[in-house]
Amino acid sequence: MKDFVEKPIYSRLHFMGATSVAEDGLWQIVGIPYDGTCSYRPGSRFAANSIREASWGLEMYSPQQNACLEDISYYDKGDLELPFGNCPRALSLISAAVRETLSSQKKWLGIGGEHLITFPTVETYLEYFPELAVIQIDAHADLRSDYLEEPLSHASVMYHISKMVTPNNIAQIGIRSGTKEEWRWMTKHQTLLTEKGALREKLNFWGELPIFLTIDLDVFCPGLFPGTGTPEPGGFCWREFMEWLLILRNANVVGVDVVELAPHYDTSGVSSILAAKVIREVLLLSRHSL
Ligand code: MN
Ligand code: MN
Repeated sequence: MKDFVEKPIYSRLHFMGATSVAEDGLWQIVGIPYDGTCSYRPGSRFAANSIREASWGLEMYSPQQNACLEDISYYDKGDLELPFGNCPRALSLISAAVRETLSSQKKWLGIGGEHLITFPTVETYLEYFPELAVIQIDAHADLRSDYLEEPLSHASVMYHISKMVTPNNIAQIGIRSGTKEEWRWMTKHQTLLTEKGALREKLNFWGELPIFLTIDLDVFCPGLFPGTGTPEPGGFCWREFMEWLLILRNANVVGVDVVELAPHYDTSGVSSILAAKVIREVLLLSRHSL
C-alpha cells in the first residue's frame, strides 16, 4: 500500500502551461478554425487543437531566450465557433472576439486558421491603437487586391491591411513569392526587409509604436514545415527564424497571430510541434502588459 494520498490531476486540451483562471493571463490564446477562402489546400481549421496537443511534448523553458513559460501567465480561451459558409459573418465574429480580449486589457494571441483572419484582427486593433505597426512574417506577399475577383481572400490580407495602416508602418519578412505587381508595391514602399539591420532601423524609427506581429508559418522551408496549404520552397530554417524574432525581444508587441498550419498534410506531426514552439517563443518575447 502507498503511504501517501494520491492527488488526481486533470488535463483538458489547452496550450501547455496555460492558467485556468481567465482573469490572470497577460495573453489570451484563441483558436480561429477558419479556412473558408483557402486557394489551394484547405485544412488550417484543424490547426489550433493540433498545436495544443503538440505543445505538451515541448519544454516550458526556452534556452534561446533563457526564459520560461512558468514566469508568465496566459489563458487559452479555446476555439471560436465560426460559420464556414459565411465569410463576412466569420470575420465579424473574429472582430468581436478581439474586442473582448482588448477591452479586458489582454494581449491577443490568435491561432489560425488561414491568413485572412488577420484582417478583422488588425482592423479591430486599430480601434484601440489608432497608430499601429504591422510586421508580417510569411512566404507570400499577400498583397493581391483580390483572388479570382474575391477581395476576401487569404492572398489579400496585407492588401487590406495596407489600406488601413500606412506602408511606413508595415514590415514584411521572409517573402519569397508574389506577383510582379506585389513586388513592385513592396519595392516602392520599401516594406520588404531582407537584412536584419533593416528591421532594427525600422524599430528605431517606430519608437514606442505598438506592433502587431502576424506569422504565416509557410515562411518556413516546406521540408521542415510541410503541413501547410500553400507550401513554397526555399524558406527559413529554425535558426534564421529565431534570428529575426529575437530582434523583436522587448519591442512593444501588443498582439500576435500564427496562421496557416494545416496539420493533416504532415503525418509525422512535426509541423504542429514547430508551430507550438513558435508560439512558446512568441509568448516569451515581450512580457509587458497592454
Ligand atoms: Mn500569408
Ligand atoms: Mn503564406
